[in-house]
Amino acid sequence: MTTYSAQAATAVPVAALEMTDKITNLAYLVAALLFILALAGLAKQETASRGNRFGMAGMAIALVATVLKAVVASIDAGEDSSGPVVTLILIAVAMLIGAAIGIPRAKKVEMTGMPELIALLHSFVGLAAVLIGLNSFIHPDANAEAIASFHLGEVYLGVFIGSVTLTGSIVAYLKLSAKMSGKPLVLPGRHLLNAAVILVCLVGMGVFIWAGHANLTLAWIAMAVNLVLSLFLGFHLVAAIGGGDMPVVVSMLNSYSGWAAAAAGFMLFNPLLIIVGALVGSSGAYLSYVMCQAMNRSFISVILGGFGGDSAADGDERDYGEHTEITAADTAELLKNAKTVMITPGYGMAVAQAQYPVAALVAKLREHGVKVAFGIHPVAGRLPGHMNVLLAEAKVPYDLVLELDEVNDDFGEVDVVLVIGANDTVNPIAEEPGSPIAGMPVLKVWEAGEVIVFKRSMGSGYAGVQNPLFFNENTDMLLGDAKTSVEEINAAL
Ligand code: NDP
Repeated sequence: MTTYSAQAATAVPVAALEMTDKITNLAYLVAALLFILALAGLAKQETASRGNRFGMAGMAIALVATVLKAVVASIDAGEDSSGPVVTLILIAVAMLIGAAIGIPRAKKVEMTGMPELIALLHSFVGLAAVLIGLNSFIHPDANAEAIASFHLGEVYLGVFIGSVTLTGSIVAYLKLSAKMSGKPLVLPGRHLLNAAVILVCLVGMGVFIWAGHANLTLAWIAMAVNLVLSLFLGFHLVAAIGGGDMPVVVSMLNSYSGWAAAAAGFMLFNPLLIIVGALVGSSGAYLSYVMCQAMNRSFISVILGGFGGDSAADGDERDYGEHTEITAADTAELLKNAKTVMITPGYGMAVAQAQYPVAALVAKLREHGVKVAFGIHPVAGRLPGHMNVLLAEAKVPYDLVLELDEVNDDFGEVDVVLVIGANDTVNPIAEEPGSPIAGMPVLKVWEAGEVIVFKRSMGSGYAGVQNPLFFNENTDMLLGDAKTSVEEINAAL
């Protein structure tokens, strides 16, 4: 951590500089604690909004402290009095541009569009790390430590992590928003290619650190090679991952963006950025691990890519027979006579915004003495916890919302399952070796007495795999928008 008092000539009294240092460091400490409390709060639905408030308070304190530090630094460095004013104006202009773009976008975004927005935001963190890295190499004398080998290593690594995050997140954004095919891009010898890229980048790091002191042209060549190869690596790693494994990619890029921020913190000598980056990096890595367990994938296999889409059942043309359809009125009749009902929601419930009529349906059924519960798949929807957020929004009691592990052995005892806008998460083909989603745990809804699937067409889910569940004897399709269908059932009840 730098202290202003370490600098040679100062325009601001040393005591004032030391005081600013102490105040900002204290503010950073408080902000870091608030961020930890925010993470702890976000772990449970009941405490999530309190966690968000801690996070916002921490960010406000961090912003004020950082602006204060920048202004005092510019007073200290400036030959004339316009320095701090220019600094303040530049910060204000940057914040205004960011707010002008961010606020309308955040207001407009639907819950279903959140993953792609998050992926795009991760790409900005990556871009920032790259720019900070290049800048702190171009202006080495901005800080006395800039010429040290350790700092050169930080710069190189910061640009590497930032570039991988940048292109990886852009590809994730394109895949999630369906602007690019969700199918994995499988280049020949892709693992060897990745290994070769990483090796060349590692050698380049040694060259860069050595040449950073001795030969600037060579250092720039090493940096350029690093930049190009790591941009390619980010693209290739994520392009090689198939549709069904995108949840892990999103959380992994979240982790990468944290490490990119931590690297930027080292380059800028900003302890708070290092702490926050490490918090995001490690919590994102843990989330990726949890998601891999939920998807029955090995962490390394997902990082190396290639799951989904390139196997036998891809483009499944098998004839599963005819499906049968049911009306909302008949579904209402079925529900009236049921003793136990399980609801397994998916992405379609979010698209239709059907959570409110679903909550009303649950209340009606419970009034009639029907036992109702929700079975939530860990990757249902497009965000970890997506369904839990929607159901909490519609005020569904938390104790009715159960996880896959809690319900998967009980479907045999359920009279009626309502599959509302879910597809991949209830696809029995996951139990077939060699299928694109093979091994992914799924909700065994087909074991129930009767299954009603709410969706608009017979189309496939996110992973692009046909779902044989729809053709089972005990499955009826209730085709149409999920919200309208549930409202019709409520009216009939
Ligand atoms: P899927 O995405 O597999 O399927 C959703 C279904 O909803 C579609 O088949 C669609 O069928 C139907 N649907 C869409 N709109 C409506 C509507 N208005 N009314 C009724 N139905 C509608 O959903 P799941 O939740 O089962 O699975 C999630 C998938 O997303 C998994 O493959 C997962 O890996 C992936 N994923 C998850 C992420 C996460 O973190 N949770 C992140 C990224 C990807 P139709 O068009 O015929 O109506």
